[in-house]
Amino acid sequence: MTENPYQLSDKASKLLNRKAIRRFDKAKRDCNLLHVDELNVIKVLTALYKDLAADNKKAFFDLAVMAYQDAQPHGKKEPDMSWILALLDSYDPVYLVVYTHEVERKRDRLIEGVIATSSKTVEFRRGLSLWSRFTGHELDRVTDEATLKAFRDAGVKKVRWRTEDDDKVCPVCGPRDKKVYPINKVPDKPHINCRCWLEAVKE
Ligand SMILES: [Zn+2]
Repeated sequence: MTENPYQLSDKASKLLNRKAIRRFDKAKRDCNLLHVDELNVIKVLTALYKDLAADNKKAFFDLAVMAYQDAQPHGKKEPDMSWILALLDSYDPVYLVVYTHEVERKRDRLIEGVIATSSKTVEFRRGLSLWSRFTGHELDRVTDEATLKAFRDAGVKKVRWRTEDDDKVCPVCGPRDKKVYPINKVPDKPHINCRCWLEAVKE
C-alpha cells in the first residue's frame, strides 16, 4: 500500500455522522425540553445510545471487511464479528478507554446534563460532537487493526511506519517515518487523530 488507508474511515464517518445528527435531533424533540420528566429523558437517551451503538457496530464490521480486503497483502480469512466485538471490549491505549464502557459513559453524561441544566440544546450539541469525534477515532482504530490482521494472515513479519510526511506530523511520529518494526512490536499511536499507517515490508 502506498497511500494512507483512511479514505474508507472518512466515508463511514460521514455517513454515521449524518445518521447521528438525525438521531440526536429526534431524541431532543422526544425529550420535551420544556417539562423535564427524568424518566422520559432516561428512556429516550438510553434508546438513542443503543441505536447509535448499533449503527456504529454495523459500520465497524463493514469497514473491517473492506479495510482487510484493501490491505496488501491480505490473507483469506475476513475479520468476523467476534473479532470486532473483542476489539470493542478491549482497552484502547490511545483513547485510554474501553469502547463499550465509553458508550455508556457518554450516554450517562448526556442524561445528567439534560436533567441538570437549563441549556439543554447546548448539551445535545455537545453530546453529538463528542460522539462524532469518538466514532471517528474508533473507525481509524478498526482500520488499523483490520490492516494488521490482514498482514498477519498473509504471513507478513515486518511493517514500515508511514507518516503523512507534512508539517503537521507530531514530534513523536516524525522520527518513526519509514522505520521498520516486527509486526508484533509496533508501538501504539502516540495521540488521538494520529493518521500514520503501516505498510507491509516485503522480505
Ligand atoms: Zn502519527
